[in-house]
Amino acid sequence: MSAYDIAPGVDAALAAFTLPEKLGFGAVTAPVMFSAEWEEGTWRRGILLPYGRIEVWPGSRVLQYAELVFEGLKAYKVGQSRANLFRAQDNCRRMQRSAERLAMPVVPETLFFQGIKAVTRACAPFIPARSGQSLYLRPFLYGTESGYLLRNSKSFRFMVIANPVESYATGAPTVAIERQEVRAAQGGIGTVKASANYAASLRASSRALARGHTVALWLDATEHRYIQELSGMNFFAVIDGELHTPELDGAILPGITRDSLLKLAPRLGYAVHERPMALDELLGQIGSGRCSELFACGTAAIVMPIGGLAEPDERTFRPAQTDQVAARLRTALLAVQERREPDPFGWVREVA
Ligand SMILES: *Cc1c(COP(=O)(O)O)cnc(C)c1O
Repeated sequence: MSAYDIAPGVDAALAAFTLPEKLGFGAVTAPVMFSAEWEEGTWRRGILLPYGRIEVWPGSRVLQYAELVFEGLKAYKVGQSRANLFRAQDNCRRMQRSAERLAMPVVPETLFFQGIKAVTRACAPFIPARSGQSLYLRPFLYGTESGYLLRNSKSFRFMVIANPVESYATGAPTVAIERQEVRAAQGGIGTVKASANYAASLRASSRALARGHTVALWLDATEHRYIQELSGMNFFAVIDGELHTPELDGAILPGITRDSLLKLAPRLGYAVHERPMALDELLGQIGSGRCSELFACGTAAIVMPIGGLAEPDERTFRPAQTDQVAARLRTALLAVQERREPDPFGWVREVA
Protein backbone atom coordinates (compact mmCIF):
# COMPACT_ATOMS: atom_id res chain seq x y z
CA MET A 1 0.00 0.00 0.00
CA SER A 2 1.21 3.43 -0.87
CA ALA A 3 1.93 5.91 1.91
CA TYR A 4 -0.29 8.48 0.25
CA ASP A 5 -3.65 8.45 -1.48
CA ILE A 6 -4.28 8.90 -5.17
CA ALA A 7 -7.37 10.87 -6.06
CA PRO A 8 -9.79 9.75 -8.75
CA GLY A 9 -8.96 11.65 -11.91
CA VAL A 10 -5.18 11.39 -11.61
CA ASP A 11 -4.89 8.66 -14.24
CA ALA A 12 -7.19 10.54 -16.61
CA ALA A 13 -5.26 13.77 -16.08
CA LEU A 14 -1.98 12.00 -16.83
CA ALA A 15 -3.43 10.23 -19.88
CA ALA A 16 -4.78 13.50 -21.28
CA PHE A 17 -1.45 15.31 -20.96
CA THR A 18 0.87 15.79 -23.92
CA LEU A 19 4.17 17.58 -23.65
CA PRO A 20 4.18 20.70 -25.86
CA GLU A 21 7.22 21.41 -28.04
CA LYS A 22 7.82 24.82 -26.44
CA LEU A 23 8.33 24.57 -22.67
CA GLY A 24 9.74 27.87 -21.46
CA PHE A 25 10.12 28.17 -17.71
CA GLY A 26 6.82 27.66 -15.90
CA ALA A 27 4.65 28.05 -18.99
CA VAL A 28 3.70 24.37 -18.92
CA THR A 29 2.25 22.87 -15.75
CA ALA A 30 2.38 19.17 -14.89
CA PRO A 31 -1.12 17.62 -14.66
CA VAL A 32 -0.77 16.40 -11.06
CA MET A 33 0.06 17.90 -7.67
CA PHE A 34 0.66 16.64 -4.15
CA SER A 35 -1.03 17.92 -1.00
CA ALA A 36 -0.78 17.16 2.71
CA GLU A 37 -2.41 19.07 5.56
CA TRP A 38 -1.22 19.79 9.06
CA GLU A 39 -3.93 20.03 11.72
CA GLU A 40 -3.99 19.73 15.48
CA GLY A 41 -0.27 19.21 15.65
CA THR A 42 0.06 16.40 13.12
CA TRP A 43 0.55 15.79 9.44
CA ARG A 44 -2.40 14.07 7.77
CA ARG A 45 -1.99 11.51 5.01
CA GLY A 46 -0.91 13.09 1.72
CA ILE A 47 -2.72 12.80 -1.58
CA LEU A 48 -1.79 13.00 -5.25
CA LEU A 49 -4.39 15.06 -7.12
CA PRO A 50 -5.06 16.25 -10.65
CA TYR A 51 -3.58 19.74 -10.99
CA GLY A 52 -6.32 22.24 -10.36
CA ARG A 53 -7.54 25.16 -8.32
CA ILE A 54 -7.30 25.15 -4.56
CA GLU A 55 -9.54 26.88 -2.07
CA VAL A 56 -8.29 29.24 0.62
CA TRP A 57 -10.23 31.35 3.10
CA PRO A 58 -10.03 35.04 2.26
CA GLY A 59 -8.92 35.65 5.85
CA SER A 60 -6.25 32.95 5.81
CA ARG A 61 -2.85 33.90 7.11
CA VAL A 62 -1.19 33.03 3.84
CA LEU A 63 -3.22 35.77 2.16
CA GLN A 64 -3.24 38.28 4.99
CA TYR A 65 0.27 37.83 6.39
CA ALA A 66 2.22 36.09 3.60
CA GLU A 67 2.71 32.99 5.73
CA LEU A 68 4.31 31.08 2.86
CA VAL A 69 7.66 29.46 2.16
CA PHE A 70 8.75 27.50 -0.90
CA GLU A 71 11.52 25.60 -2.63
CA GLY A 72 12.66 25.02 -6.20
CA LEU A 73 14.53 21.94 -7.41
CA LYS A 74 14.85 19.84 -10.53
CA ALA A 75 14.44 16.22 -11.59
CA TYR A 76 16.54 15.28 -14.62
CA LYS A 77 16.05 12.42 -17.06
CA VAL A 78 18.61 13.16 -19.75
CA GLY A 79 19.92 9.89 -21.17
CA GLN A 80 18.54 7.96 -18.17
CA SER A 81 15.56 5.65 -17.84
CA ARG A 82 14.70 6.99 -14.38
CA ALA A 83 14.47 10.51 -13.02
CA ASN A 84 17.30 11.86 -10.87
CA LEU A 85 17.02 14.53 -8.20
CA PHE A 86 19.84 17.01 -7.61
CA ARG A 87 20.67 17.82 -3.95
CA ALA A 88 17.03 17.42 -2.92
CA GLN A 89 18.03 16.82 0.68
CA ASP A 90 19.52 20.30 0.79
CA ASN A 91 16.25 21.76 -0.48
CA CYS A 92 14.44 19.79 2.21
CA ARG A 93 16.70 21.17 4.94
CA ARG A 94 16.40 24.68 3.62
CA MET A 95 12.61 24.41 3.57
CA GLN A 96 12.76 23.27 7.18
CA ARG A 97 14.88 26.30 8.08
CA SER A 98 12.46 28.55 6.19
CA ALA A 99 9.49 27.07 8.07
CA GLU A 100 11.25 27.49 11.41
CA ARG A 101 12.03 31.14 10.70
CA LEU A 102 8.34 31.79 10.03
CA ALA A 103 7.23 29.69 13.03
CA MET A 104 5.54 27.14 10.79
CA PRO A 105 5.62 23.37 11.33
CA VAL A 106 8.59 21.71 9.68
CA VAL A 107 7.79 19.38 6.78
CA PRO A 108 9.45 16.11 7.81
CA GLU A 109 12.00 14.74 5.38
CA THR A 110 9.84 11.67 4.71
CA LEU A 111 6.84 13.82 3.76
CA PHE A 112 8.95 16.20 1.66
CA PHE A 113 10.37 13.29 -0.33
CA GLN A 114 7.00 11.57 -0.52
CA GLY A 115 5.59 14.69 -2.16
CA ILE A 116 8.35 15.36 -4.64
CA LYS A 117 8.71 11.67 -5.52
CA ALA A 118 4.97 11.16 -5.99
CA VAL A 119 4.88 14.01 -8.50
CA THR A 120 8.16 13.03 -10.17
CA ARG A 121 7.10 9.38 -10.58
CA ALA A 122 3.69 10.29 -11.96
CA CYS A 123 5.31 12.73 -14.39
CA ALA A 124 8.22 10.44 -15.32
CA PRO A 125 6.89 9.56 -18.81
CA PHE A 126 6.98 13.20 -19.86
CA ILE A 127 10.02 14.58 -18.10
CA PRO A 128 11.69 16.20 -21.09
CA ALA A 129 15.01 14.54 -21.88
CA ARG A 130 17.09 16.93 -23.98
CA SER A 131 20.14 18.40 -22.26
CA GLY A 132 19.11 21.47 -20.25
CA GLN A 133 15.54 20.25 -19.85
CA SER A 134 14.07 18.91 -16.62
CA LEU A 135 11.04 18.72 -14.37
CA TYR A 136 11.08 21.76 -12.10
CA LEU A 137 9.53 20.94 -8.72
CA ARG A 138 8.00 23.63 -6.56
CA PRO A 139 7.20 22.48 -3.00
CA PHE A 140 5.51 25.10 -0.81
CA LEU A 141 3.98 25.40 2.65
CA TYR A 142 1.39 27.92 3.75
CA GLY A 143 -0.82 28.84 6.69
CA THR A 144 -4.49 28.13 6.09
CA GLU A 145 -6.06 29.40 9.31
CA SER A 146 -8.16 32.57 9.18
CA GLY A 147 -7.65 35.39 11.64
CA TYR A 148 -5.78 38.59 12.32
CA LEU A 149 -4.19 37.64 15.63
CA LEU A 150 -0.47 38.15 15.45
CA ARG A 151 0.60 34.58 15.85
CA ASN A 152 1.26 31.82 13.39
CA SER A 153 -1.50 29.74 11.87
CA LYS A 154 -2.67 26.52 13.49
CA SER A 155 -3.32 24.74 10.24
CA PHE A 156 -1.10 24.43 7.20
CA ARG A 157 -0.91 22.85 3.80
CA PHE A 158 2.18 21.43 2.10
CA MET A 159 1.95 21.12 -1.65
CA VAL A 160 4.15 20.18 -4.59
CA ILE A 161 3.47 21.36 -8.11
CA ALA A 162 5.76 20.86 -11.10
CA ASN A 163 6.64 22.19 -14.52
CA PRO A 164 8.47 20.53 -17.41
CA VAL A 165 11.04 23.22 -18.28
CA GLU A 166 13.95 24.06 -20.50
CA SER A 167 16.85 26.11 -19.19
CA TYR A 168 16.20 29.59 -20.41
CA ALA A 169 18.61 30.56 -23.13
CA THR A 170 19.41 34.03 -21.94
CA GLY A 171 22.20 35.62 -23.89
CA ALA A 172 23.99 37.92 -21.46
CA PRO A 173 21.39 40.32 -20.11
CA THR A 174 22.22 43.44 -18.15
CA VAL A 175 21.25 43.87 -14.51
CA ALA A 176 19.96 47.07 -12.88
CA ILE A 177 21.81 48.20 -9.74
CA GLU A 178 19.17 49.00 -7.12
CA ARG A 179 20.54 51.87 -5.06
CA GLN A 180 17.37 52.84 -3.20
CA GLU A 181 15.19 49.94 -2.19
CA VAL A 182 16.22 46.94 -0.10
CA ARG A 183 15.35 43.26 -0.56
CA ALA A 184 16.40 41.96 2.85
CA ALA A 185 18.14 43.12 6.01
CA GLN A 186 20.11 41.24 8.67
CA GLY A 187 17.68 39.70 11.13
CA GLY A 188 14.90 39.66 8.54
CA ILE A 189 13.91 36.75 6.33
CA GLY A 190 16.34 37.17 3.44
CA THR A 191 18.21 33.99 4.32
CA VAL A 192 15.12 31.81 3.91
CA LYS A 193 12.93 31.11 0.91
CA ALA A 194 9.92 33.11 2.01
CA SER A 195 7.65 34.38 -0.73
CA ALA A 196 7.49 37.76 1.00
CA ASN A 197 11.12 38.38 -0.06
CA TYR A 198 9.91 38.28 -3.63
CA ALA A 199 7.08 40.67 -2.86
CA ALA A 200 9.67 43.14 -1.56
CA SER A 201 11.71 42.78 -4.74
CA LEU A 202 9.05 42.85 -7.43
CA ARG A 203 8.83 46.61 -7.92
CA ALA A 204 12.56 46.89 -8.56
CA SER A 205 12.44 43.83 -10.82
CA SER A 206 9.58 45.25 -12.84
CA ARG A 207 11.34 48.60 -13.18
CA ALA A 208 14.51 46.85 -14.29
CA LEU A 209 12.54 44.96 -16.94
CA ALA A 210 10.83 48.12 -18.14
CA ARG A 211 14.28 49.70 -18.59
CA GLY A 212 15.46 46.76 -20.69
CA HIS A 213 17.44 44.92 -17.98
CA THR A 214 16.54 41.49 -16.65
CA VAL A 215 16.43 41.98 -12.93
CA ALA A 216 17.71 44.06 -10.01
CA LEU A 217 21.04 43.72 -8.20
CA TRP A 218 20.52 44.23 -4.46
CA LEU A 219 22.87 45.96 -2.04
CA ASP A 220 23.11 45.58 1.72
CA ALA A 221 20.38 47.23 3.77
CA THR A 222 22.65 49.20 6.13
CA GLU A 223 25.18 50.99 3.96
CA HIS A 224 23.88 50.32 0.44
CA ARG A 225 27.48 49.52 -0.38
CA TYR A 226 27.96 45.78 -0.51
CA ILE A 227 26.55 43.49 -3.17
CA GLN A 228 24.03 40.93 -1.94
CA GLU A 229 22.47 39.06 -4.87
CA LEU A 230 19.85 39.27 -7.60
CA SER A 231 16.17 38.78 -6.74
CA GLY A 232 16.33 35.02 -7.20
CA MET A 233 19.95 34.27 -8.03
CA ASN A 234 23.31 34.56 -6.33
CA PHE A 235 26.07 36.72 -7.79
CA PHE A 236 29.64 35.96 -8.92
CA ALA A 237 32.48 38.00 -10.42
CA VAL A 238 35.68 36.76 -12.06
CA ILE A 239 38.53 38.96 -10.78
CA ASP A 240 42.14 38.26 -11.80
CA GLY A 241 40.91 34.90 -13.05
CA GLU A 242 39.48 33.88 -9.67
CA LEU A 243 35.86 33.58 -8.53
CA HIS A 244 34.46 36.02 -6.00
CA THR A 245 30.99 35.91 -4.47
CA PRO A 246 29.46 37.88 -1.59
CA GLU A 247 29.84 36.02 1.68
CA LEU A 248 26.59 34.94 3.36
CA ASP A 249 25.91 38.08 5.35
CA GLY A 250 22.74 37.11 7.21
CA ALA A 251 20.48 38.54 4.51
CA ILE A 252 21.57 36.67 1.37
CA LEU A 253 19.77 33.46 0.42
CA PRO A 254 22.26 30.57 0.58
CA GLY A 255 21.73 29.13 -2.88
CA ILE A 256 22.40 25.47 -3.50
CA THR A 257 23.71 26.31 -6.97
CA ARG A 258 26.07 28.86 -5.38
CA ASP A 259 27.34 26.22 -3.00
CA SER A 260 27.69 23.70 -5.84
CA LEU A 261 29.78 26.14 -7.89
CA LEU A 262 32.00 26.95 -4.91
CA LYS A 263 32.71 23.22 -4.63
CA LEU A 264 33.06 22.46 -8.36
CA ALA A 265 35.11 25.51 -9.41
CA PRO A 266 38.35 24.51 -7.63
CA ARG A 267 38.23 21.20 -9.54
CA LEU A 268 38.23 23.24 -12.76
CA GLY A 269 41.24 25.22 -11.53
CA TYR A 270 39.50 28.34 -10.22
CA ALA A 271 40.27 29.70 -6.77
CA VAL A 272 37.10 30.82 -4.95
CA HIS A 273 36.60 33.66 -2.48
CA GLU A 274 33.57 34.42 -0.32
CA ARG A 275 33.93 37.94 1.04
CA PRO A 276 32.11 41.25 1.41
CA MET A 277 32.08 42.75 -2.11
CA ALA A 278 31.78 46.52 -2.29
CA LEU A 279 29.91 47.48 -5.44
CA ASP A 280 31.96 50.60 -6.22
CA GLU A 281 35.20 48.66 -5.95
CA LEU A 282 33.82 46.07 -8.38
CA LEU A 283 32.74 48.75 -10.84
CA GLY A 284 36.33 50.10 -10.70
CA GLN A 285 37.66 46.61 -11.38
CA ILE A 286 35.37 46.25 -14.38
CA GLY A 287 36.71 49.59 -15.63
CA SER A 288 40.35 48.55 -15.18
CA GLY A 289 39.79 45.11 -16.70
CA ARG A 290 40.70 43.22 -13.52
CA CYS A 291 37.12 42.00 -13.35
CA SER A 292 36.69 40.15 -16.62
CA GLU A 293 33.29 38.53 -16.22
CA LEU A 294 30.08 38.48 -14.18
CA PHE A 295 27.41 35.84 -13.77
CA ALA A 296 24.52 34.78 -11.57
CA CYS A 297 23.36 31.33 -10.54
CA GLY A 298 20.29 29.52 -9.31
CA THR A 299 18.36 26.32 -9.90
CA ALA A 300 16.22 27.81 -12.66
CA ALA A 301 18.87 29.33 -14.94
CA ILE A 302 21.79 27.27 -13.52
CA VAL A 303 24.53 29.76 -14.51
CA MET A 304 23.42 32.97 -16.23
CA PRO A 305 26.02 35.27 -17.80
CA ILE A 306 25.60 38.97 -16.99
CA GLY A 307 26.36 41.44 -19.79
CA GLY A 308 26.77 44.44 -17.52
CA LEU A 309 25.64 46.39 -14.47
CA ALA A 310 23.48 49.45 -15.12
CA GLU A 311 23.34 52.44 -12.77
CA PRO A 312 19.99 54.21 -12.27
CA ASP A 313 21.21 56.84 -14.78
CA GLU A 314 21.87 53.99 -17.27
CA ARG A 315 25.67 54.26 -17.19
CA THR A 316 26.49 50.60 -17.75
CA PHE A 317 29.64 48.78 -16.66
CA ARG A 318 30.36 45.90 -19.01
CA PRO A 319 33.10 43.39 -18.30
CA ALA A 320 35.30 42.42 -21.24
CA GLN A 321 33.99 38.85 -21.43
CA THR A 322 30.65 37.14 -21.12
CA ASP A 323 29.93 33.46 -20.69
CA GLN A 324 33.49 32.15 -20.74
CA VAL A 325 34.05 30.99 -17.15
CA ALA A 326 30.26 30.88 -16.70
CA ALA A 327 29.88 28.49 -19.63
CA ARG A 328 32.59 26.19 -18.25
CA LEU A 329 30.91 26.08 -14.87
CA ARG A 330 27.44 25.59 -16.35
CA THR A 331 28.66 22.74 -18.55
CA ALA A 332 30.42 21.08 -15.62
CA LEU A 333 27.45 21.40 -13.26
CA LEU A 334 24.92 20.27 -15.85
CA ALA A 335 27.11 17.24 -16.68
CA VAL A 336 26.87 16.15 -13.04
CA GLN A 337 23.14 16.91 -12.84
CA GLU A 338 22.45 14.95 -16.04
CA ARG A 339 24.78 12.12 -14.94
CA ARG A 340 27.08 12.44 -17.91
CA GLU A 341 30.07 12.92 -15.61
CA PRO A 342 30.99 11.34 -12.27
CA ASP A 343 29.27 12.87 -9.26
CA PRO A 344 32.16 13.45 -6.83
CA PHE A 345 30.01 14.95 -4.09
CA GLY A 346 27.13 12.46 -4.15
CA TRP A 347 24.64 15.13 -5.20
CA VAL A 348 22.44 13.09 -7.55
CA ARG A 349 19.89 10.49 -6.43
CA GLU A 350 17.77 8.29 -8.63
CA VAL A 351 14.02 8.24 -7.98
CA ALA A 352 13.17 4.53 -7.77
C1 LIG B 1 16.12 30.38 -4.64
C2 LIG B 1 16.97 31.61 -4.57
C3 LIG B 1 18.30 31.62 -5.02
C4 LIG B 1 18.96 30.44 -5.70
O1 LIG B 1 19.01 29.31 -4.88
P1 LIG B 1 19.24 27.86 -5.51
O2 LIG B 1 19.20 26.95 -4.35
O3 LIG B 1 20.58 27.90 -6.16
O4 LIG B 1 18.16 27.65 -6.50
C5 LIG B 1 19.04 32.78 -4.86
N1 LIG B 1 18.49 33.88 -4.31
C6 LIG B 1 17.21 33.91 -3.88
C7 LIG B 1 16.68 35.16 -3.28
C8 LIG B 1 16.41 32.78 -4.00
O5 LIG B 1 15.14 32.83 -3.58
